Amino acid sequence: MASIDVLKSRFYAYDKMYSQELREQSFADWPFREDCNCTPEKMARAGFVHCPSENEPDVACCFFCLIELEGWEPDDDPLFEHLKRSPKCGFLGMRKDFTELSVAQFYHMEKSRLKVYMKKVCHKKMAALRDDIIRIKGSLQSQLDSVDHLNA
Ligand SMILES: [Zn+2]
Repeated sequence: MASIDVLKSRFYAYDKMYSQELREQSFADWPFREDCNCTPEKMARAGFVHCPSENEPDVACCFFCLIELEGWEPDDDPLFEHLKRSPKCGFLGMRKDFTELSVAQFYHMEKSRLKVYMKKVCHKKMAALRDDIIRIKGSLQSQLDSVDHLNA
């Protein structure tokens, strides 16, 4: 799962990724090409951008809902996988090609994309806060236990 910094850089960079052509170009080093279901063209058509790392060479991320999928097999259907994991993705609900959107429709899409991003960041911050609370509570409890031990 991507860190907040990674989510942030993707969110800001992916406003260009409404373009099928740019998404497809991101798959220049993608291993699945001929005789596969998940070709660069199909991956891009399903909204994915290739965002490999050293440890995870086959990570693909939806430019819109920012869901990350890895462990691709040649027979995987990118659109099906995307629908299965993120059925409410706004990109999947788009009825037109990006080039046919009006300015108002484009800004509406961008607003939805921003909401998704904000929600993901909030979830991550809440999880970090919860972890901090558990850690601090544990530390305070052990200090209290050692004071009790001294008083016993
Ligand atoms: Zn998506």
